Amino acid sequence: MRFDLLTIFPEFFAGPFEHGIIRRARQQNRIEIHVHDLRSFTDDKHHVVDDRPFGGGDGMVLKPEPIFRAVETLLAVEQPETLPGDEQKRTAIVLMSPQGRVFCQAEAERLANECSRMILLCGRYEGIDERVIEHLVTDEISIGDYVLTGGEIPAMAVVDAVTRLLPNVLGSETSAVHDSFSAETGGVLDYPHYTRPADFRGWQVPEVLIGGHHAEVAKWRRRAALLKTRKRRPELLANAELTEQERHWLAEIGKEDL
Ligand code: SAM
Repeated sequence: MRFDLLTIFPEFFAGPFEHGIIRRARQQNRIEIHVHDLRSFTDDKHHVVDDRPFGGGDGMVLKPEPIFRAVETLLAVEQPETLPGDEQKRTAIVLMSPQGRVFCQAEAERLANECSRMILLCGRYEGIDERVIEHLVTDEISIGDYVLTGGEIPAMAVVDAVTRLLPNVLGSETSAVHDSFSAETGGVLDYPHYTRPADFRGWQVPEVLIGGHHAEVAKWRRRAALLKTRKRRPELLANAELTEQERHWLAEIGKEDL
């Protein structure tokens, strides 16, 4: 996967992609991240990227010309190598926007599967000229129903969430399988995790996790994940595909466990 980030604050990205799993994915060439300064796609000597809104009102709006020029240049001159199996994959031109579809794990999985390249446009000020949305952007993504000062933090969140789902990025192929919201769990929350010491200030790790009986551990974890989901995010259970046994667990636990 190749990510191109288009921003008026390229320095913003120094740091977040230089640690942990994202850093390792870059070093191993599983992903490429390129940060581009929108101002370098202007043609005036002051590198102006914004202007006042037609119709009046507060704030500034990002102009369409530099954004179109930037995306068209990136698409024309820098095509990532097509790897076997990637022939059907697409390039997403993504606008980070509070008006977009709210980002979730299913969306991250979809982008990781469908795309070989993502160009992420980071808005600022009042936002971006609407013609960019109508004629250039393929996906509009929000990271939640709140308004940030710019699209850089949302873009980081999307790069991070998509990258960890790409093949061979996490240490083990199954690492993301039990994650909260993942398709494999049926979209419920992850189970509780414990590590040493088994007794910390008198708080004990559940006995079953210490016994080494794999089937019992798996059963306990699934049950705990479902109960936690019912307690914290009951709406997720409405769409979860549950077995008879799992429905029984949920039914048999009384209100006192919640
Ligand atoms: N006037 C716009 C509105 O109310 O819809 C908000 C503009 S916001 C101050 C500036 C930029 O920050 C946006 O163009 C977008 O790129 C980014 N942004 C802000 N909140 C966001 C969110 N929740 N998700 C994704 N991007 C966001």
